[in-house]
Amino acid sequence: MIVAIDGPAGTGKGTISKLVAERLGFTYVDTGAMYRAITLKMLRNNITLDNEDGINDMFDNTVISFESNTNEKGEFVQNVFLDGEDVTFEIRTPIINETVSPYSVLPLIRTRLVDLQRKMRSSNDLIMEGRDITTVVFPDAEIKIYLDASLEERANRRYKEFVSKGIETTLEETKDSIAKRDYNDMHKEMGALKIAEDAVYIDTTNLTIEEVFNKVKELIQNKKDGN
Ligand code: C5P
Repeated sequence: MIVAIDGPAGTGKGTISKLVAERLGFTYVDTGAMYRAITLKMLRNNITLDNEDGINDMFDNTVISFESNTNEKGEFVQNVFLDGEDVTFEIRTPIINETVSPYSVLPLIRTRLVDLQRKMRSSNDLIMEGRDITTVVFPDAEIKIYLDASLEERANRRYKEFVSKGIETTLEETKDSIAKRDYNDMHKEMGALKIAEDAVYIDTTNLTIEEVFNKVKELIQNKKDGN
């Protein structure tokens, strides 16, 4: 079974997907992490957006992989590896937050990553989240979900995350950066964030993580029961 989740930044896509992986045994793919890892590699190697050959060459020589682990608090976490290097922390810093959205506009980058994502379909149940999973990557997914929340609530959630990781920023900056990213993500020529016609829309603004998880679990259970 494939569960596809889309939605803007800070709606809880990652948190819910990790719970589904941990509790229901699904394989979890965070496609935002893939766009982030590619952005990081391009910045490190000074590969500019107009360098088509350089980008193709980079993709031919790049391995992005995920590893599920338990952190020191006993929580389920997923580490992201770029060519064998653990970049989990580095891909979530403000510089990547700023750069990833304009980089992910490039059709060449999207085509190469969508291709990789489609190849991740396997015999195991899969939960994949991002911006174009329900519309482009797996429009045939058994379950399609669009998670949403108010900008204020999403900025609060991200800001708390930054503070807990010791990343220096302000709530205002976090809010501006998310609003800018939302705009970019919704106005891309290819793979723009939108609500798929047959997606289940869940507004998480006033819901707890457990409440959202239970809704998703119910959708999965109903589908597995053949309803
Ligand atoms: O999900 P996350 O916020 O980590 O994604 C980072 C960025 O990667 C998004 O703001 C978006 O620009 C890009 N992205 C995308 N398509 C996806 C997933 C993420 O364009 N499927």
